Amino acid sequence: MSIRPELAGRPSQTRPPSGPCRLRRSLPPDLVIASPEWPSLVGKIPYLDVRLEQSFRFGHGIWRAVVLKDATYEKWGTLSGGMTMLVESAGEADLVAYHGWRKIEGFEDIGVEKTLDALENLRRFLDGVNSERASLGMPPLVLSGRGERYIHRTFEELQRPGTQLHPRRQVFEQMGGIYRAVEQILDALPRPHMFNPHIREIMLGEGVSSSVRGSEYVPEQGQVVMFTLALGAARRTFVGLFLHELGHAMARRMLEDDSEAGFFEERHGFLRATGAFLGVDFWIGREDRVFYQTDIEEFLAETFMHYVAAGDCLRAHIASFGDGKIARCWTEVYEAFRDRYFSGIEYSCQT
Ligand SMILES: [Zn+2]
Repeated sequence: MSIRPELAGRPSQTRPPSGPCRLRRSLPPDLVIASPEWPSLVGKIPYLDVRLEQSFRFGHGIWRAVVLKDATYEKWGTLSGGMTMLVESAGEADLVAYHGWRKIEGFEDIGVEKTLDALENLRRFLDGVNSERASLGMPPLVLSGRGERYIHRTFEELQRPGTQLHPRRQVFEQMGGIYRAVEQILDALPRPHMFNPHIREIMLGEGVSSSVRGSEYVPEQGQVVMFTLALGAARRTFVGLFLHELGHAMARRMLEDDSEAGFFEERHGFLRATGAFLGVDFWIGREDRVFYQTDIEEFLAETFMHYVAAGDCLRAHIASFGDGKIARCWTEVYEAFRDRYFSGIEYSCQT
């Protein structure tokens, strides 16, 4: 398989590191991560406490009980991102808290028709990508996963009056927003990212996971997998996880080139030694996100996520080091991303 290097996201030196004109892009405002801390909504939403907030952000929700006979409502989610279900009884107050929370941090429920439209738009976007991939002799970028099956099944169920929906309706309610977000994120990336051979499949909703996590990247198959858990989580969590996994595919691209690998390893080692990583909370806290990055591929994947979803946070973090050695090292990493992998494009919260 031969791929034109500039289309496959290989490093190029076509732009000077500090040229005068910059290309600014932004994700839609509701997908941008504006600060490294994730402010709590406890006290702002009736009945929301810390425990509920954590579990909602993590992908759990409250539904009218269809499984537990004694409870009026059930708290439903997956334990491992997979098929193991967590079902607890919950009360009216939990439901109020959940709906209040989702209005602010969850994906909007756009209804069945618009959800199917969003799916169609995403497919159309991928068709366009895939005709270009075909002309490069590349296999298509496939959309797969339980997400699609849930939608169609739920849609069919809704045609039958009096049908009680399965608790997994959680996934269905957020799915329209997720299809839309996936398309918006892919579309906001430089087009050459769509021709990275390390991405071949985007799986939305998958049942098998061996640990408590929301997503993974499977290098052998070029798969970006979003587990069912992540589909019910906060927008911020979904965006962070999805871009992190896309970042793994880009990290593979970066590290397969010996001189690039050397460049990033040297700077990663220095930033690790000086404790200069950026931690942006979108899943389990800032400290954990920093700890993850002791591995170079995790560092590159996380920096990719910061670069696209939290560009302002990343630049502010670099600026916070003044003009010393750490700042210079970070600037070199940032400029490598910008000029060699993002075609000069920078991301900002401003639209
Ligand atoms: Zn990772």
